[in-house]
This record gives sequence, structure tokens and C-alpha cells, in this order.
Amino acid sequence: QVDRYLYHMRLSDDVLLDVMARFQAEMVKGLGRDTNSTATVKMLPSFVRSLPDGSEKGDFLAVDLGGSQFRALEVKVFNDGKQSSQLESKFYPTPKEVIQGSGTELFNYVADCLLDFMESKNLQHKKLPLGFTFSFPCKQTKLEEGALLAWTKHFKVRGVQGTDVVSSLRKALQKHKASFIPQSEWLTCAWFKGDIDVDVLAMVNDTVGTMMTCGYDDPHCEVGLIIGTGTNACYMEEMRHIDLVEGDEGRMCINTEWGAFGDDGALDDLRTEFDRELDLGSLNPGKQLFEKMISSLYLGELVRLILLKMTKEGLLFNGKVSTALLTKDKIEMKHVCAMEKYKEGLSNTKEILTELNLFPSEEDCIAVQHVCTIVSFRSANLCAAALAAILTRLRENKKVLRLRTTVGIDGGLYKTHPQYPKRLHKVVRRLVPNCDVRFLLSQSGSAKGAAMVTAVAYRLAAQRKQIDAVLAPFLLSLDTLREVKNKMRAELEYGLKRETQASATVKMLPTYVCGTPDGTESGKFLALDLGGTNFRVLLVKIRSGRRRSVQMYNKIFAIPLEIMQGTGEELFDHIVQCIADFLEYMGIKGARLPLGFTFSFPCRQASIDKGTLVGWTKGFKATDCEGEDVVDMLREAIRRRNEFDLDIVAVVNDTVGTMMTCGYEDPNCEIGLIAGTGSNVCYMEDMKNIEIVEGNEGKMCINTEWGGFGDNGCIDNIRTKYDKQVDEGSLNAGKQRYEKMTSGMYLGEIVRQILIDLTKQGLLFRGQISESLRKRGIFETKFLSQIESDRLALLQVRRILQQLGLDSTCEDSIIVKEVCGAVSRRAAQLCGAGLAAIVEKKRENRGVEHLQITVGVDGTLYKLHPHFSRVLQETVRELAPQCDVTFMLSEDGSGKGAALITAVAKRLHNIGRK
Ligand code: ADP
Ligand code: MG
Repeated sequence: QVDRYLYHMRLSDDVLLDVMARFQAEMVKGLGRDTNSTATVKMLPSFVRSLPDGSEKGDFLAVDLGGSQFRALEVKVFNDGKQSSQLESKFYPTPKEVIQGSGTELFNYVADCLLDFMESKNLQHKKLPLGFTFSFPCKQTKLEEGALLAWTKHFKVRGVQGTDVVSSLRKALQKHKASFIPQSEWLTCAWFKGDIDVDVLAMVNDTVGTMMTCGYDDPHCEVGLIIGTGTNACYMEEMRHIDLVEGDEGRMCINTEWGAFGDDGALDDLRTEFDRELDLGSLNPGKQLFEKMISSLYLGELVRLILLKMTKEGLLFNGKVSTALLTKDKIEMKHVCAMEKYKEGLSNTKEILTELNLFPSEEDCIAVQHVCTIVSFRSANLCAAALAAILTRLRENKKVLRLRTTVGIDGGLYKTHPQYPKRLHKVVRRLVPNCDVRFLLSQSGSAKGAAMVTAVAYRLAAQRKQIDAVLAPFLLSLDTLREVKNKMRAELEYGLKRETQASATVKMLPTYVCGTPDGTESGKFLALDLGGTNFRVLLVKIRSGRRRSVQMYNKIFAIPLEIMQGTGEELFDHIVQCIADFLEYMGIKGARLPLGFTFSFPCRQASIDKGTLVGWTKGFKATDCEGEDVVDMLREAIRRRNEFDLDIVAVVNDTVGTMMTCGYEDPNCEIGLIAGTGSNVCYMEDMKNIEIVEGNEGKMCINTEWGGFGDNGCIDNIRTKYDKQVDEGSLNAGKQRYEKMTSGMYLGEIVRQILIDLTKQGLLFRGQISESLRKRGIFETKFLSQIESDRLALLQVRRILQQLGLDSTCEDSIIVKEVCGAVSRRAAQLCGAGLAAIVEKKRENRGVEHLQITVGVDGTLYKLHPHFSRVLQETVRELAPQCDVTFMLSEDGSGKGAALITAVAKRLHNIGRK
């Protein structure tokens, strides 16, 4: 009979899945900027972005308002590796006058209780941060600021709605401080002088508190659930889905305020006449309709209303209604719980009903017990459906097939009801079979949680300070950059002057490239490109005239590490072997073609086809080459092989090739820049300024080899300890200091050094330096590009780090991204400062107010990094405002450029002969 009577309260799985879908849609609505205002589930941002990581420590105060009892607490958190904490608290009554009186009275009462607690614990002379658990829907704007949206449960205090509750509490505390101390003691009292400083640092909802408390014990905890006087849930949402808060990075805890689900009628088909009646008799009719079907504040009343109607219809107690049964709230949650203790048979039920003057028969008792079961089962079912929706959302956010997660739970109904937890768990697991959920009962979660949030906020603030300190040396002010520009300018001059040239760190090497292509070049050329990531041999066909074009065929050959760092003879034999393979491959074995040799290392040239290696850079270190002519070495290797002959016309730096390639398209291109494995620049200098080359007419391209800038210590003021570590671990310690701060070969390594340091300081990867993080070179510069890409979600950053064997949390990946950003930004700015010095010099050479010039650029760092090129350009614009610089990407400058230079050299040579 009861079953039939309460048919509408028994919800099948199909119905629950439907509720779950409705709740999911409502969450989306609550998160959306345009839909939030009409959403019933408010999805309130909590400004809690991080879970505890176990390294929190300190002594914190908390007050907990909004549950069935009001309490003040002191929570000590120890960073002892065992996640231990100590809690002492004191409960205070919440008299009706206070919770249904005025706001001032309420907050004064809270302040009274807190100060009483502090006195009883002898804490009034300590300076402790305070967390405030305030379990009502609030629109938070900061962690420590939030306006009450509406009272719920049995609270109805005047003049609080719409105001910031934290400042109200602060005000009450301050006022209290003043009145607490006699005026005569004002000047001497330590307290009044501010020694006691209860500052409210965080305000949290009880759900958030519960999640945080459980999160302290279980790092998988990312959902908080309350099933007590009220019901509510929170969970960690992706920032990019939270329209109402700026920023896309990381996660933030969302307080769903799911109690209001159905306030727009969305659950009307499931609500019974009893639900409607209960609502009409409540403090807030029409509001919190979901909560009214679930929470302990209403369960007893629902049972009462059902029993009343059944009795009136003669189905129970012989149709005799008692006064008690007519009285609102006469049946409470504790009665329902007691009656549902099946193990105790019907005795509890009988006793309770008798107390209500109902004279129950045994059948009455069985029926009433059954009513209780149906009502509380429905509560667990509905709660499970909404929770299942949250879990599904978490799983989808993480893009995983199976979600492993923990739900932290607090609340009297869940804790005291004999069957409730089991039912809830079972239904949740049935509704979301692809989630492995652990339910973790929180110990005083809602109260302790505020202290935990405060503790985390404390830890984060301390960490932030440390991280900022580590990254501070990478932030270069405009003045510093200007200084770098000026120093670079001075070094450029040293390199050009006869007396200073020998000791100059920026070597300013003449290239004997004096002309740019004029379009009349033509023919077939071979080119070699050595000094980058790849060694290549190319065949380049240049056509002149109306069908002007450049066609290229090339083949990449590997240079094994043992050859790169073996003997010079081995290296050049290997190169010639590759040429032979290429000629064979192209079917041009017998042809004696002119060859241009792009050799991207500093070479002192005496003519265009002679170049003495000054010193290896980047990853090369073959013996017996430094001080030798690389063209001779190549010729000898060809002779040793004795298989073919080549006409080596030019030895070319990649910067020069790049400038030439762009110059072929744009005659205004007089600068070549490389930002790839290495960093270097060349530019057309007036002959009269180049003291070490005879002649004052015309121009010659100077290969600056600016990578050596700073080798005399002139920029040591901006070098960090990480730069020094990278330098010490390199093949050429002490050399190429500027290059090591700006080029692709080293940026990842700088990042790795910083990450190691941050980990050592306990700020990353839970303080664990993994094996892979110890490996030199593991962090390649291409990872900077990937990690810094704006389109990349943090999850993907984590995936990249995972590939590197770095197991990161969400916060870790934010920090790693920040580190990458600081390193690459500094690189681009330093490079820009150097380039500003070059363009300024060119402007002065020409003696013009405004210079219009094009820079040909090559290099993967410049081309593929998401911000490098922009920051570089911005810096040049800032530091050389009188120059209008166009940046032109070169298409394979080091290959095509070598051929073009060879062609120009050939043309000039022929003219000379004629
Ligand atoms: P090279 O300078 O050796 O001639 P590149 O211009 O192609 O050749 O530069 C290669 C260098 O660029 C690599 O050594 C690496 O440091 C860096 N690099 C590779 N991929 C990326 C990327 N996606 N973003 C930024 N830098 C990269
Ligand atoms: Mg290159």
C-alpha cells in the first residue's frame, strides 16, 4: 500500500539518468557568461585554485557558520610528510535571535565567540590567519571577499544579503578589539597596538572546506559533497570553462549550489504534493527545491506530511491524527535515522510514534519504517544523480576513458543515517560505471576546511614569492636592454678597429662578399651546408632574365657525434663521402660544378674562398681544425678520395647566405639574422669603417659572430646562475655567452636548470628530481615552443612533460610554462637589443634621420617559437625608434644563399677576367 502511495518517490535508473542529464545541462548554463544569470545552479567560483599538496604548515584559526552548529577552531598543520594536523574547537549555540535577527548582531556574535575561543586557548597574543567557513551561496570576487546571494536553510538575517560578509566580520572583530580593552590600557596593550591581528584571509563554503580537508589526505580528491542540514557540492573545474573569471589556465573550485536545482520548475515532474506542501511552509518558498528533497533539514518534515495525509485517509493509526503529528518539524532527521535502524527491529519506530501520541500497531510501524526508507532512499538517489553528472563532467574535462577520483563528504545525514552511504555509493557506481570513485568521509571537513584553504593560500603566497625571486633576474627592464644595446654597439666598434680587433669578443669578420645578386646570375651550383642541425648537400639551378628562378635539390646527411667531435680529417672525409653519394644520387658524377660552402662557424677570411676557423661553436669539436683553412681541408679531402674534382668558389657563413637569399628578392635587405641552433648576425658595412681590409670604397658584408658578445664579462651583470651552469656544462665553457642566452641550443637547457632549482626548493614536482630531469639536453627548445603555444591547454602541457618523464600536477605545469616564457622572452629581448645596435649603426652610417631596412631571418627558433619573433621585433622597435625594420623570412638561406654568393662571385670573377 505504501509503495503504491509513494509510487512517485521511487525513482528508476532511467529517471535518475534523466535527472543527471538535466543537471549536466544546468551546470553548463551556470558556467556560461550569457546564461549564468538565468541558471538555477549558480556554479559560483570559489577562487580556490589549488588543493593541498602536503607541504602546508602553520597555525590557523577558523570559524564555521552555516551548519547545524556554529564553532570556532584552531588548526595546526604540520609539514612532516605524514599529512598530520591537530584540531581544537569549541561549539557555540546559534540562538534563533541571532540567526534570524540583524546582520550586526550576527557578526558581533561571531566575533564574541571567536574571541572567547581565543581566550580559552590562550591565543589572543598570537598573530594567526583566519579562514571563514560560510556555507551559504556567495558571489565571491576574491578568496577573501564575497557577497551573500541569499540565505538558505534556517537562516534569515536582515541586512546581509548583497553585502561582503568578510568585511562585515572584519569590522565586527575590529570593533570588538576596541571595546574589549579598557580605554586606559589602549596605549600599553599589545593587542590594541596590533599584536593580535586576526585577519580573515579566506572565505569558503563548507563544500570547498570538505574537499580541501579530504584533499590534504588524498591527492585525488577533487569533489566536495555535503549532505547534512543542507546539501551542496563543489568540484575542480577547468578555468577555460569558467566564463565569469578571467584567465584560462589551471583549475578553480566551483561551488555548484546545487540545492537550487529545480527552482525554475525543471524537477516539477518529480516533485510530489508533499514536496510542494513542505516548500510552502518553509522560510524560503519556491527556493532550494532540490535541497528540500534531499537534506536532513527537510527529511523528517516530509515524512511527517506523508504520515499526516495517510492517517487522514485512514491508512494509518486507525485514522487518528495527534496534535504532535499536526505540528511542523515534529519529526526530525534523527527520528528518521532511528526508525530506519532495521537491525533494531521496530522498537525505535514504535517508541518514536508513541511519543507523538500515535498509538501504532505493528503494521503501522512497518508502514512508517517503509515511508522513511522511501523518503531517504529518494534523497540518496537524487544526490547520486547530480554527483554522477559532476563526475562525468570531470571525466570529460580530463579527456580520459576512466576517471579515478575521490569525493570528500561531510554532513550529518550521510554520517548518521545507517543506510545512506551504502545506497549513495551503489547508485553512483551504477550511474557512472566508468568512474572509480572513492568516497572519503571528512573529519570536521567543513570547519577545518577554511583553515586548510588558508593554509594553502599561505603556502601559495610563499611559493609565489620564491618563484618570483628565481625568475626575477630574467625580467629585463627597458633600461637594462638599452644598456645591452649600447654595450653591443661598443663591441661592434672594437671588432672593426685595427688596434682592438685582435682581442674583440665580437669578431666582426670580413666576408669578402661585396655585392648582392643583380638577377643576371645563372648556372648550376653545388652547395654544402655545415654547422646547423643537419648537414646537407645541394644542387642549385639559377636562371636569370625573365624566367628568373632558383631550383634546388638537396639531401640531408647525418653527422654522427663521434665524427662531429673526432678528428678534422675524419670530419672532412665524411663530408666528401656525402658529396660523392649526392653526385651519384643526382646522376652528375662527372660534372665539375662551382661549389659554395656554407660553413656556419667563425672564420677569418682573406678572400671569398679562404676561411680560417677561429673556433668551433655549437655542438662541434673536431680536432686539428681551429686555425686551419676550411677550404684547404675540404680540397685535401677531395684529393684524398681522388674520385672527382670541384671548383670551390666561396666559403659562406649562414647569416650571409640568409642575407643574400632575401637580398635576391628585396634589394633593401642588408642584414642577415640567424636564430636557430646558434645566434648570429651579418650586415653590409661601409668599407671605410673596416680597418682591417684594404680599401675605402663600397661595402662589404661583416659576419659579426655576435654570439661571443659578453665573453669579456661585459654582460655578466645580467647572467644568472643558471646561465653559468649551462655554460659550465657546454663544450666551450666561457665562450659564446650571448649565444648561450639567446639560441635554440641552450634555451631548453636553461629551463632545465631552473626546473632543477625550483624542484630542489620544493616548488615543483613535489620536490622530487626525476631521473630524466637530470639528463642534459632532455629539455629541447622545441618543447618551449610547444609549451608556450597559446592554443595549448594545460592538460597538453602536462602530457608533454609526461613524455619527458616529468610527472606534473596542474600547478607544476603552470610554473613550467612560466619558466619557459621567462627564458624565451629574455632571449628574444636580448637578441632584439643586439639587433637594435646593428640597425642604429647602419642608420648612422647612412647619416639619415630615419632608416628603412630589411633584415633577412632564418632559424627554427625564430620561425617556430610562438612569441620569439614578436618580442624580438617589439624590442627592436622600442630600442631603435628611428629605424623602420622589415623582417623577411628567408627560404633556406644557408643553401640557396651559398649558391647565390657562388654565382655572384663567379660573375664578378668572369668580369674581372674579361
Ligand atoms: P640551424 O640553426 O641548426 O641551422 P635551425 O634553424 O633549424 O637549424 O635550428 C635548429 C634549432 O632550433 C634546434 O637546434 C633547436 O634548438 C631549435 N628548435 C627546433 N625546433 C624548434 C621549435 N619548434 N621551436 C623553437 N626552436 C626549435
Ligand atoms: Mg641553419
